Amino acid sequence: MLKVLKFGGSSMADAIQYKKVRAIVEADPTRRVVVVSAAGKRFKEDHKITDLLYLCHAHVQYGVSFESVFGMIADRYKGIKEDLGLKIDIESHLEQIRKKLISGMSEEELASRGEYLSALLMADYLGFDFVDAAHWLKFRYDGTIDQEESYAALRREAEGRKVVIPGFYGVMPDGQIQTLTRGGSDITGALAAAALDADVYENWTDVSGILMADPRIVEDPQPIDRVTYSELRELSHAGAQVLHEGTIYPVREKKIPLNIRNTNEPDHPGTMIMESFDDSMDMEHRFITGIAGKKDHSIITLTKIGLSSAVGELRRILEVFEDHNIPVEYVPSGLDTVSLVVDSAKVSSCLYSMLGELQKKIKPNNIKVHDQIAIVAAVGRKMAFRAGVSGRIFARLGENGISIRMISQGPDEMNIIVGIDNKDYANAIRVLYNSFVK
Ligand code: ADP
Ligand code: ASP
Ligand code: MG
Repeated sequence: MLKVLKFGGSSMADAIQYKKVRAIVEADPTRRVVVVSAAGKRFKEDHKITDLLYLCHAHVQYGVSFESVFGMIADRYKGIKEDLGLKIDIESHLEQIRKKLISGMSEEELASRGEYLSALLMADYLGFDFVDAAHWLKFRYDGTIDQEESYAALRREAEGRKVVIPGFYGVMPDGQIQTLTRGGSDITGALAAAALDADVYENWTDVSGILMADPRIVEDPQPIDRVTYSELRELSHAGAQVLHEGTIYPVREKKIPLNIRNTNEPDHPGTMIMESFDDSMDMEHRFITGIAGKKDHSIITLTKIGLSSAVGELRRILEVFEDHNIPVEYVPSGLDTVSLVVDSAKVSSCLYSMLGELQKKIKPNNIKVHDQIAIVAAVGRKMAFRAGVSGRIFARLGENGISIRMISQGPDEMNIIVGIDNKDYANAIRVLYNSFVK
């Protein structure tokens, strides 16, 4: 039996949190592999170490003294060492980073040092071995992860041992440090669990599992006790930030259950995520598993008479987005119209050239762009093929004065997605929560 654990930034924020982590790890001898994030916020106005590291790099880049920012980072780690009475020479690791920063260090490498330092301290505190992610998590030059190589390397490094691994980064074929996207330690944990064929991947954070809605919008939302991988993918893609979207694939592939737990409430069972559940005994009539969303999207709508009967037209439209490297998130369509929903930030630098190209290649009767759109998704496996759900969702939003700009429903009927104005975002989430959950 092997459990792989990942502790997020809030669980690594200070010595008090380290003590909770140790109690959790020591409570179960099968908890042998621990992945850690950089130190996160200790209180609301505090800084995340990763943010400070990016800030530090910006200082270097613009030729401004970085010493005071670097000092804040160093003090956090020295403080944890001191408070825990550790012997590890963290000062010399910090000094090495400082020196390399002066002689030239990539932004990626500097950003990764938060996890590196956290893992050194935690390994020392737990009495586990430190295994550097740079020794096993291997990227290809195109930025994708070479799973096979990485898994084999981690097995060589960690099999049968008790180890602490820094999250968030790996290594390019030429030896350069490469980070994952923000929040990526979740992915490191999933890869480690998959590589070592863990029995469970425990992801320890600061909430007692996935909540039915963002707790910053809905007051005290109910936790979800069971969710399928597919539902979670929908929820995290739609904006539920509790887990990085890329976490699910590696564990799902190996059928490893994922359990989200709260470091501050270790006895709470949290959320269990698996391929499927036997819902037949479930007497609960609630059919929405969760509600999530994200702001700042754009809807690009093309109208062209005869669009749906023209062969290859949709491909030609999508090719324009592909040529500009813009992922299209949803594609609701009508007979003569198709809408493409994209992240506004990703499209902002090339919007006009893309519209120009669409004009030239597709010759539509009309192109319209709607900005400041929020996406809100209601997700639930029990929603599938149930009559009237979407109607009720639209009715509740309408009754509350929220105009719907776009509707999309997956063919598996596990999600209903609406596009609304940014200004209605929080209200829409509350309305759906109050109508379907409370
Ligand atoms: P960690 O540092 O442990 O990786 P994150 O900050 O990345 O933690 O994720 C946990 C946070 O996600 C919670 O504190 C909560 O504010 C936020 N969050 C947003 N949506 C949800 C949701 N639906 N369920 C639970 N947490 C959510
Ligand atoms: N420390 C990184 C970040 O803040 C990665 C992580 O916490 O998962 O994004
Ligand atoms: Mg996170």
